[in-house]
Amino acid sequence: IRAPECEQATTLQVALRCRPLSIAEKSRYKELIHIENERVVVVSDSNGMKNREKRFSFDFALGPEVKNLEVYNQVASPIIKGVVNGLNGTIFAYGATGSGKTHTMVGTANDPGLMVLSMQDIFQLVSNEEKDHKFEITCSYLEVYNEVIYDLLDRSSRHLELREDPEQGIFVSGLKRVQVNSAAKILELLQIGNSRRKTERTDANAISSRSHAVLEIVVKKYLQNETGSTILQGKIALVDLAGSERASETNNVGQKLRDGANINKSLLALANCINALGKQQKRGLAYVPYRNSKLTRILKDGLSGNSRTCMVATVCFADHQYHHTINTLKYADRAKEI
Ligand code: ADP
Ligand code: MG
Repeated sequence: IRAPECEQATTLQVALRCRPLSIAEKSRYKELIHIENERVVVVSDSNGMKNREKRFSFDFALGPEVKNLEVYNQVASPIIKGVVNGLNGTIFAYGATGSGKTHTMVGTANDPGLMVLSMQDIFQLVSNEEKDHKFEITCSYLEVYNEVIYDLLDRSSRHLELREDPEQGIFVSGLKRVQVNSAAKILELLQIGNSRRKTERTDANAISSRSHAVLEIVVKKYLQNETGSTILQGKIALVDLAGSERASETNNVGQKLRDGANINKSLLALANCINALGKQQKRGLAYVPYRNSKLTRILKDGLSGNSRTCMVATVCFADHQYHHTINTLKYADRAKEI
């Protein structure tokens, strides 16, 4: 397997996405944030006080009218082009439960999300080159729940372990890899997988997803030359993170609290890795603490080397979500430092 030719450090872009309010929400809640321009959002105080406004700027600020296809074209499409040419990438959705993470990553039949659109685009890109090269496209779909890995494409779903070897690096032992030949089936596959995700009712009276779901697509391109053939391999991890709200905020107890603690551990580990990458880029420091959680170990390849990473931070306009929104904006702001 050959290393890709262009040498560049990991890059991270941050997109902020505000979901639209439902009709019921519109009648009950005030809207506290607005998109000022393509990059800037303004949040008013939770009492709607103008003089306490906070402003945040991102690589992209996407308003409620923006559909998944446009999100894809802006933030994901350049990364996917790289994947077909042997680069790695990671795209993750970060935000509180109900802010639009699953809508962004999985979507619906009418508004397919980034996982589906990426797959479609990969098939399109590959078909343009297929007369010159042979390709192999595989995918896997797993969840990390309570620091345990489950295979979402395998009904029997036993606990899977991470292993490491010099050839493959870190990999999930026994994880099902499905070879795919068309994008048509992927939404169905994802929906079956999602129905197996661990969800739990919280005091907030919502189905709150407490697991991180990772779709990984690997594209192998077989290059023929005089000395034989080499394989160019690119992969993309598309991640629907667990809800970012803190366990303490929803009065969780017992098992749920433990889940919350672990979810925070993974999210914290991810935040720390992203911060370290930022420092590495600025000052050339090397140490990035990937080892601190299952999630960061799984994502390592897509967060290091010459990978490209995009975080879509999702928020909801309504005032009852104010604290979640601020927390997400602060996290995203920190990530952007990179
Ligand atoms: P999360 O996965 O972050 O918990 P969801 O993606 O399930 O949140 O979104 C919560 C609700 O809002 C769902 O009913 C979803 O269909 C709707 N929704 C989220 N984002 C959008 C969007 N951009 N456009 C339309 N509806 C959305
Ligand atoms: Mg969800």
